[in-house]
Amino acid sequence: MEIIPAKPIRDLRLLGGHPVLDFVNTVDSRRDRWGPDALQTCGDLLEWMSRLELVSAGCSIRLAKLARAHPEEGREALDEAKALREAIYRVALCEISMSDADAADLKLIEDGAKRWAAAQKLTLSPSGAIVWSQEISHLSAITARLASSAVELFIAREHRRPIGECPGRDCGWLFIDHSKSGRRRWCSDETCGTSARVRKYRAKHS
Ligand SMILES: [Zn+2]
Repeated sequence: MEIIPAKPIRDLRLLGGHPVLDFVNTVDSRRDRWGPDALQTCGDLLEWMSRLELVSAGCSIRLAKLARAHPEEGREALDEAKALREAIYRVALCEISMSDADAADLKLIEDGAKRWAAAQKLTLSPSGAIVWSQEISHLSAITARLASSAVELFIAREHRRPIGECPGRDCGWLFIDHSKSGRRRWCSDETCGTSARVRKYRAKHS
């Protein structure tokens, strides 16, 4: 079997339209094959969170250093985040198919979001505004941050478009359909859309 190398975090395409769907899309394919998974280390996860502005660059570097100094805690934080990612994926599919989500998946997301809310502190921002502090000081808070973002996505039903799933071969990425028609089919028309058209054309003319 061909081994497909995982893409570096900086090369991942951000097509989900929401950080949480881009988080789910860190698995390169969920159809026809599974993987590769771009999140190989806790450092990858933190680099990705910094890219999506879920943590500041400084915080990402600080936590990555912590993960290297305590590899077991880093591995645990990564495993926990990946378990959450898969729960978010399954819940999103349930939203798409309008079927009941698994209670354990919902609980995992809910518990993380509650942990995040409980750890927040009111602070004075540099501009003088009172804000909730957004800094993560422990590796164990990474998943809580992501879960909180997932809840924001799922409950924002009045204000957002539906979640879609790309039917492309070796894809299955999730995205928010921001298209005018509300009928966006592919994660990207240039990749999955084009290859599907090419396959269709070849099948027709062979
Ligand atoms: Zn696709």
